[in-house]
Amino acid sequence: MTYVITETCIDIKDGACASVCPVDSIYEGGRMFYIHPDECINCGLCLSVCPVDAVAREGDMAEGQKGYIEVNRDFLVLR
Ligand code: SF4
Repeated sequence: MTYVITETCIDIKDGACASVCPVDSIYEGGRMFYIHPDECINCGLCLSVCPVDAVAREGDMAEGQKGYIEVNRDFLVLR
């Protein structure tokens, strides 16, 4: 289980999430931020501060959003 950044971050990149993450597990990409699934400690702070509701808890994601689990993982784990 982890937290995941989804499509509403794209080209917004507010960055409040990265500022509050206690373990620095949020990374900036070209068009959005990404959460490292192996570093996230599931505190939920990022979800509570995102102004565009881009952060989702993996277990609560709608079917149509689940592709972002791989988007976050692939950006950080496979690079
Ligand atoms: S849930 Fe907590 S540890 Fe995980 S990315 Fe968000 S702020 Fe960081």
